[in-house]
Amino acid sequence: MMQGWQEFSEIQPLATKMLQQSILKNRLAHAYLIQGERGTGKKQLAKLLALTLFCENRQGVEPCMTCSNCKRILSNNHPDVHWIKPEGVMIRNEQIDYLRKEFAFSTLESSHKVYVIEQAETMNTHAANRLLKFLEEPTLQSTAILLTDNSHAILPTIRSRCQIIDLKPLDEAHFQKTLLELNVETLDETKSRLLSALTTNVDEALEMHEEGKIYEIKNVVIELFQVLMHRYDERFLFVHEKWLAVLTDRAEQQLGLDLLMLACRDLIRHQVDREQPLTFFAEDDELFEQLIIHFTNKQLVNMLRLILEAKQKLMQFVHPTLVIEQLILQF
Ligand SMILES: [Zn+2]
Repeated sequence: MMQGWQEFSEIQPLATKMLQQSILKNRLAHAYLIQGERGTGKKQLAKLLALTLFCENRQGVEPCMTCSNCKRILSNNHPDVHWIKPEGVMIRNEQIDYLRKEFAFSTLESSHKVYVIEQAETMNTHAANRLLKFLEEPTLQSTAILLTDNSHAILPTIRSRCQIIDLKPLDEAHFQKTLLELNVETLDETKSRLLSALTTNVDEALEMHEEGKIYEIKNVVIELFQVLMHRYDERFLFVHEKWLAVLTDRAEQQLGLDLLMLACRDLIRHQVDREQPLTFFAEDDELFEQLIIHFTNKQLVNMLRLILEAKQKLMQFVHPTLVIEQLILQF
């Protein structure tokens, strides 16, 4: 399902605002260079721009997604919207030539042409120069949209002719939505929130999910909170019998501390503002409600500081057993 500007603004508010204003003032540039990391929505934005330019029933900035122009763009089938991708490792000169001829000879269905060039950094100087000539053809009503995740590799001559649009790396909330939309069985709302607090790389998140250790560690962290609340004197025993038994290497210790931090962060945030989204706990978690009351804000902030120090020590190769013992004795 193609998202409109409203949804896109949740992912990329700044880029959306800038482009929306240009559209409404009818002052779109002739060439855009959209730069951003993998997964930031470059192709989606290029398509959205094309839809906006060609839609027959646009409402404000929003394309209708149902008129014949919209449908043809959505199915990559519009005669005036061209997508160029590298053939092999690069965009070849012939591809740019083809594009030029195509535009010169095609009977005009509309006066406007859009061309999108994916991985624009793979054009060599020759192809880029041809493209530039073509960009500056005064008879051509066109919008060029160059996409790249490596803006440093774009020739300065190209950069200087384009309006630059920077897309920001995805935030947690959006990444979580992306994970849920993969429809992986067993990957539910709560799990996706936890994973998106730890990474914004889909492959890494799925690997963690499939491996499942992350959820085992989460249960240990939950149990630690129960121990702190109800069996405080047994916390040292807990470190040895449970924490160090389940979390067996340095990487798992780091992950354990990360989860502990997320849990503290949830508690601190909710003591201040109950509307804040949770990452570690679930909204209706009974333990969570008890913990909010049990710990003062000052205690939790102090715990957070101690966890950060413990993470630092782990990185400096202090023995994990020692680090965790010290940490939990200070709680
Ligand atoms: Zn439309």
